[in-house]
Amino acid sequence: MLRDTLNRPVKDLRISVTDRCNFRCTYCMPFDEYEWIEKKEILSFEEIERLARLFIPLGVDKIRLTGGEPLLRKDLDKLVARLTALTGLRDLCLTTNASHLAEMAAPLKAAGLTRINVSLDTLDAEKFKRMTGRGDLAAVLEGLSVAQRIGLLPIKINAVIERGVNDNEILDLVEFSRQNGFAIRFIEYMDVGNANQWQSGRMVSKKEILEVIQTRYSLRLTGRDQESAPSVDFELTDGSGDIGVIASVTEPFCFGCTRARLTADGKLVTCLFSNDGHDLKTLMRSAATDEDLLEVILAIWTRRADRYSEERLEAMHSRKGYEPRAHKKIEMIRLGG
Ligand code: SAM
Ligand code: SF4
Ligand code: SF4
Repeated sequence: MLRDTLNRPVKDLRISVTDRCNFRCTYCMPFDEYEWIEKKEILSFEEIERLARLFIPLGVDKIRLTGGEPLLRKDLDKLVARLTALTGLRDLCLTTNASHLAEMAAPLKAAGLTRINVSLDTLDAEKFKRMTGRGDLAAVLEGLSVAQRIGLLPIKINAVIERGVNDNEILDLVEFSRQNGFAIRFIEYMDVGNANQWQSGRMVSKKEILEVIQTRYSLRLTGRDQESAPSVDFELTDGSGDIGVIASVTEPFCFGCTRARLTADGKLVTCLFSNDGHDLKTLMRSAATDEDLLEVILAIWTRRADRYSEERLEAMHSRKGYEPRAHKKIEMIRLGG
């Protein structure tokens, strides 16, 4: 089996289908100096399917569609249908802000999608607008409700917690998820991209998040779903729900990272914090054969040594400290979450 320099296989492929987004989440969106990918540079569905097909025999059995906002990609259900038809793919998932989920849930389900992750950081409509720049909470809640009604399940909620912004809503978010039968994953605020004003003090740690939850709920640790899963999971001991925390900053999990990312313009990226990707699109468009592409992918993964979050933590604990802006990174909307 294919392994990188730290003996990690490639198992998950995160495909960004567009870098466009209708939201402007302050923790994600670059506001200055971002050049949108030109339309002609965006991978076609045929090209995405071809790459997905090549990755499966290398070990990938799980694909996540992301972005930008993936539901802004026209006819996304047609891509879903192509991917669910691939032999060897165990799991296809979509991460979305759910603003267009109400109208897209049924076609996506019909195309074979079974489950979704929805990003939702606050239940306060005014704050929602502020955090997302322009989002409408009611549309997201409607999207969730339609998805649930038609059985696009299970639904997981992703909530990034930022100190002084929505850290007072942790219990409300647990309660909302519990009552609606959603699992919830809290995400430590990360220094993705180059434009968010990340400071370690604005990140609420896994330890703090759990302390807040335990003031009201009793938790039992169930652990990571698989060794490579980012989330450490817990169940409420009364059986009424599941929560998880993705502690990328305080408890990094690079040791088990089996994730490869494909940008909307066909760059293969081996870490969320990479400063560059490997251009597969140009190869594909210059008549490379499947064997040529495989050779390139194998060489990239075999040389992979990424462990950015572990290095960040080491730097945070060092005398010099960690300087988030010293390292140029690809923007989150380009390479997907
Ligand atoms: N637009 C879709 C959405 O928001 O779900 C998919 C793409 S978004 C980049 C994927 C995930 O990244 C979302 O759950 C979002 O909350 C998360 N994310 C973005 N910026 C982040 C940050 N600075 N720290 C932690 N998670 C972040
Ligand atoms: Fe858009 Fe998702 Fe980034 Fe928010 S987190 S700006 S919804 S891509
Ligand atoms: Fe994987 Fe990079 Fe995140 Fe570490 S920092 S878990 S190597 S994506």
